[in-house]
Amino acid sequence: MKEIVILGAGYAGLRALHRLQASKGDFHITLVDRNNYHYEATDLHEVAAGTQLKEKITYTISDVVKPSVTTFIQAKVETINREAKTVTLDNGQVLNYDYAIVSLGFRSESFGITGVEDNALEMVDIESAEKVYRHIVGQMQDYNKTQNPDDLKIVVCGAGFTGIELLGALIESRAALAKIAGVSDTQLEIYCVEAVTRLLPMFDEDLADYGISSLKNWGIKFLTGKPIKEIRPNTVIYQDDKETGTTKELSANTIIWTTGVSGSQVMEASGFSQRRGRVIVSDNLTDSDFDNVYIVGDVSAFMNKENNRPYPTTAQVALKMGDYAAKHLLAQLRGNEIEKFTFKSLGSVASIGNTHAFGMVGKSAVKGYPASFVKKAIMDKSLFATGGVKEVLAKGRFDLYH
Ligand code: NAD
Repeated sequence: MKEIVILGAGYAGLRALHRLQASKGDFHITLVDRNNYHYEATDLHEVAAGTQLKEKITYTISDVVKPSVTTFIQAKVETINREAKTVTLDNGQVLNYDYAIVSLGFRSESFGITGVEDNALEMVDIESAEKVYRHIVGQMQDYNKTQNPDDLKIVVCGAGFTGIELLGALIESRAALAKIAGVSDTQLEIYCVEAVTRLLPMFDEDLADYGISSLKNWGIKFLTGKPIKEIRPNTVIYQDDKETGTTKELSANTIIWTTGVSGSQVMEASGFSQRRGRVIVSDNLTDSDFDNVYIVGDVSAFMNKENNRPYPTTAQVALKMGDYAAKHLLAQLRGNEIEKFTFKSLGSVASIGNTHAFGMVGKSAVKGYPASFVKKAIMDKSLFATGGVKEVLAKGRFDLYH
């Protein structure tokens, strides 16, 4: 019997698990994750802003494990030894495998900027997202005692998809937060500091403008073309003038870091040839030297031949990769061949709060209230891809009519 290990129960790992468990074959699967639950990483901003409880965006991994085929181990992966075909876990266990699907996900990337780890809040998993929310609530409560205006200031660093979606969710929770502080909504100041001036380059300018103007109209203060150079306690230092290099300070008691992600540090620790935790994979999503090791999701860099850049680290790509890795692995077991991995984006939609969104679906731009239906349908679809009907019924977004 062949032993398959799946490392990480995110979008890619669970999608692969789903397909393997639905197939017949002489194999056993060991699934490893540091948590006993799966979380919808695309929805973390809602937990961070307090617009959703963590229960809504998580489900128990045992719900999707078939014990007749799969053993689940809750532990952290420390290293993968591709020569010895072993995986070492933080509980001291060493797993042997014939095939590995490495889907260990992402972490926050500081780009070496001083003070980020110590002085900014990251939002990369349930724990850190809840910490952000607790922190914001704590500042609102403090304001009651101190009347310190910095308690009412929130800075989101980076206006990528994550930052934009977080800003939208913060707008939604602003009234409730202001109430805790005993102030009016408009007294809460929410900033976004971003390095570039052309935001959301994956969208055409009209569409990107729509998203940004909506947020501006709702009161978000954007500082664009201002690369962050350092984070000091309760202070963001950004470059104000490119020519002279002069910097300015923005003080705030909540600073949230959303300037991009890298793949799990296990890739580096295990000696994979990687950049920012991402490994360039073969056309079959395997390691270039080990065709029994699939690398999928945010630890994987699959090159888009059209622009010679890796596809972005999105849930959509991760789900497709997980599915393909399982299919290809089954083909290897049966001695068959299948076509190379290809990816065709279905588009992407960013939510800005619960009732607005904007983005592209296929070749069509979608905006505003109707786009939020589309966004919810996308969320339900990806929940279905890993969790099946049960999780969609329990956790799906059905508040399509407001
Ligand atoms: P990102 O890399 O897409 O965006 C990071 C932003 O931070 C960029 O605009 C960048 O210019 C800015 N930035 C970087 N360094 C900076 C600095 N020093 N100072 C100021 N600004 C700085 O990262 P992300 O938003 O975390 O997204 C990660 C991936 O996840 C992307 O591929 C994204 O498309 C995907 N994602 C998709 C969705 C969705 O489909 N709805 C939602 C969230 C994330």
